[in-house]
Amino acid sequence: MRLRNVKGAREAMAESSFVIQNPEQYKGKWKEVFQNQNPIHIEVGMGKGKFITTLAQQNPNVNYIGIEKYSSVLIRALEKREKIEGNNLYFLRFDAENITDIFGKEEVDRIYLNFSDPWPKDRHAKRRLTSKEYFARYDQILAKKGQVEFKTDNQELFTFSLESVKEAGWYLEMSTRDYHNSPYIEGNVMTEYEEKFSSIGNPICKLIAKR
Ligand code: SAM
Repeated sequence: MRLRNVKGAREAMAESSFVIQNPEQYKGKWKEVFQNQNPIHIEVGMGKGKFITTLAQQNPNVNYIGIEKYSSVLIRALEKREKIEGNNLYFLRFDAENITDIFGKEEVDRIYLNFSDPWPKDRHAKRRLTSKEYFARYDQILAKKGQVEFKTDNQELFTFSLESVKEAGWYLEMSTRDYHNSPYIEGNVMTEYEEKFSSIGNPICKLIAKR
């Protein structure tokens, strides 16, 4: 997924009004950025942005923030953003490891994690976006009734994530290892990775976690 050295990507990020620079300054103040009281939904590791861009168009009364670590990928999301109307979608080039630096207590109403990097080595488990360390971060920024929604085709990562939810003391609102053939599928918006992996026959797993 990482497109190294996409020419001008950093410059495009710096110049775009859809990419928020220095997001730390908006901690606890994101409603002011959107200039309304609508709920805030974020996607961590949004990649090329199809999922969140589609949701933002479908749900004008929800505010969306897409977070991506690399400019070289984020620029693809920015190209999509520039083609749509609406003031309810911004992007951040940011490492989610520091997510508590940019959102205040209970400021976020929903967190989407889609096809997150698996970090297969045990010693890198803390880097997985569904590790208990990440759930502790989400606990700080997520509204009491908020939820984390996670999709993947990686069975090992899904098993790890189910365990993490338990270890973090959260509960599962739902979980399935065959989302596309389940009753939960209605209204699903496919991500780039979801399209790719479901088209080669990989079953898609999904969970929703709450406290
Ligand atoms: N969600 C997209 C999809 O389903 O098509 C992209 C999936 S891709 C495998 C994972 C993305 O998460 C990559 O673009 C990667 O750069 C980003 N990512 C991984 N760790 C991250 C972190 N700590 N903070 C922000 N983005 C991260």
